[in-house]
Amino acid sequence: MSELINIAEIFGENVFDDATMQERLPKKVYKDLKKMIEEGKELDLATADVIAHEMKEWAIEKGATHYTHWFQPLTGTTAEKHDSFISAPMESGKVLMSFSGKELIKGEPDASSFPSGGLRATFEARGYTAWDCTSPAFVRKDAAGATLCIPTAFCSYTGEALDQKTPLLRSMEAINEQSLRLIRLFGNNTAKKVTPSVGAEQEYFLVDAKKFHERKDLIYTGRTLFGAMPPKGQELDDHYFGTIRQRIASFMKDVNEELWKMGVTAKTQHNEVAPAQHELAPIYAKANVAVDHNQIIMQTLKRVASEHGMKCLLHEKPFAGVNGSGKHNNWSLTTDEGKNLLDPGRTPHENIQFLLVLTCILKAVDEHAALLRESAADPGNDHRLGANEAPPAIVSVFLGEQLEDVLEQLITTGEATHSLNTGKLQTGVRTLPDLAKDTSDRNRTSPFAFTGNKFEFRMVGSRDSVAASNIVLNTIVADAFAQACDILEKAEDFEKAVHDLIKQYATEHYRIVFNGNGYADEWIQEAARRGLPNIRSMVDAIPALVTEDTISLFEKYHVFTRAELESRAEIKYENYAKAINIEARTMIDMASKQIIPAIIRYTKTLADTVNSVREAGADFSVQAQLLGQISELLAETKKALDVLVKETETAAAMEEGEAQARFYHDTVFPAMEALRAPVDSLEMIVDKEAWPMPSYGDLMFEV
Ligand code: ADP
Ligand code: MG
Repeated sequence: MSELINIAEIFGENVFDDATMQERLPKKVYKDLKKMIEEGKELDLATADVIAHEMKEWAIEKGATHYTHWFQPLTGTTAEKHDSFISAPMESGKVLMSFSGKELIKGEPDASSFPSGGLRATFEARGYTAWDCTSPAFVRKDAAGATLCIPTAFCSYTGEALDQKTPLLRSMEAINEQSLRLIRLFGNNTAKKVTPSVGAEQEYFLVDAKKFHERKDLIYTGRTLFGAMPPKGQELDDHYFGTIRQRIASFMKDVNEELWKMGVTAKTQHNEVAPAQHELAPIYAKANVAVDHNQIIMQTLKRVASEHGMKCLLHEKPFAGVNGSGKHNNWSLTTDEGKNLLDPGRTPHENIQFLLVLTCILKAVDEHAALLRESAADPGNDHRLGANEAPPAIVSVFLGEQLEDVLEQLITTGEATHSLNTGKLQTGVRTLPDLAKDTSDRNRTSPFAFTGNKFEFRMVGSRDSVAASNIVLNTIVADAFAQACDILEKAEDFEKAVHDLIKQYATEHYRIVFNGNGYADEWIQEAARRGLPNIRSMVDAIPALVTEDTISLFEKYHVFTRAELESRAEIKYENYAKAINIEARTMIDMASKQIIPAIIRYTKTLADTVNSVREAGADFSVQAQLLGQISELLAETKKALDVLVKETETAAAMEEGEAQARFYHDTVFPAMEALRAPVDSLEMIVDKEAWPMPSYGDLMFEV
């Protein structure tokens, strides 16, 4: 058996965390840094120098040779440039290790090749990375040795955000400020900070590395572009399950160990619905830390999979017809006193605050459903959202029976006097019912579900960063809180005003509540009747980023400027066009160089067989019929290939932007589907030995 792990001993051993800083930094420096972390105060260079020095010493003890400003440009992944600690050699020929405060707090990567959507052209060519001291630095060990990773934000010279981190931090400010206003109204004068808590559950597939390398589509696009369904699909066979388990288990053990060392609280792991699909969830953390940790998780899954002779597929839909992968984004609001604002609480007083928070969230999600949907848009996610998969593209909120009943009472009678399950009756006119915690059940089809003391946003794609969704959530809820506070702070009779407001919000936004089956066709019609947007593709979703409503919302809370939003929309159109272009070209390549040649060879074998069987005087009808069928599909394949070649050329020649992205979506994508169909039919009837790549069955069941 492999070595056993002592979690307590290794957890966070490669993190420059609070305990390490307290132990290693001079008292005053530690205090200054804490102040900066807690209050957002600026750090002076002298203090930064001391921190940098200690950080370097610590990292070198861990074996680090390099440091990197680790940042999250708008590519969906992370970027880093490594610098070694060595400084110019001394006369003696020896080198010194150096790392200054300036190098810690600010970096200047060659930013020109990161997407900026025209921002840098208009402002300034350079980009800067700035230390996000609220997310701890860590040492990462891999084939490159050990590297000190410093989480940073990435901005242009004039401060425009070129990354995910900057707006996320800004949105955390916004929700903090408005949440504090709200809890003050309910008499909390002691809490100093409210932080969004996020727990992101990561789904992924594992396939054998050797088979992966035999598929160009997986190599270039992360998903299969051809592939007939195996005889066995979703229903997992116990035998297969048994055989994969040890290999996967030893992979998971290593993943956990690596993550724990980097301070990532890997908590739950299990097999998912589809064969070869799994999930990993950490314990929730502050939103910006959770976003960083999710990136670390994705990187670690990939790296460790390679070490185990496997490949980790993070794509939202690696296999057509098989369950896709997402990332459930669990979200709540926590005060620095440890209170969760989404916890219904024990007393009616807490319940009132909770019901206000809840109805504000309903209002926020209802009013900005399209924006929330957009936050989860990426090319891969088009295969989940709006494609009869979990969850549907329509944003709705699942509350569970008890909460829904409370809202119904509020709406119909103006007051809620009892709650289901507890059956407890409250007397006072304006009193709201006692709510029991964790009464919602597990509606798996809802894109936005209340699960006891948090909301779970399930639209985010498995490969995407969770930053965008949390930026939107934080900001729209901050705005709803602000609007409520504007009214309530002026109210003469607070109790009556808050009661009326809860009722008003519940009534006005009840249409967003849906507890039924989100996959059902009836829901699509019902949602249309309710006027809820059903945005089926990324290209259709992007415009929500730049409506006047969105722009004024984000500008009001200083999360995004108009220019930043416009640049983001532009980048998204480009990303979409690029993704589909790569997929189309990969299909063209595979069809022209692998599939068609293989079929041609196979038809030759068949034709030879037909001839020799005929010469031998036997019945050759089966061979002839098969040859006919295959030749027909081959002709169809060639025709579809020619169309795809032509449309892809047209698309690639277009100017970058919305029209090009739409063309890829409306014309190129259907041409890809048209090519795939005859090829998948061929795969079903052609000799397996003749097929030029591993099948779905090979990939999913033989890990
Ligand atoms: P499930 O989705 O099956 O209900 P859990 O409730 O255990 O699973 O948690 C899923 C994720 O939600 C985990 O990452 C967990 O840490 C996180 N989570 C739990 N409570 C909260 C909370 N109050 N706020 C944000 N995330 C939370
Ligand atoms: Mg979940």
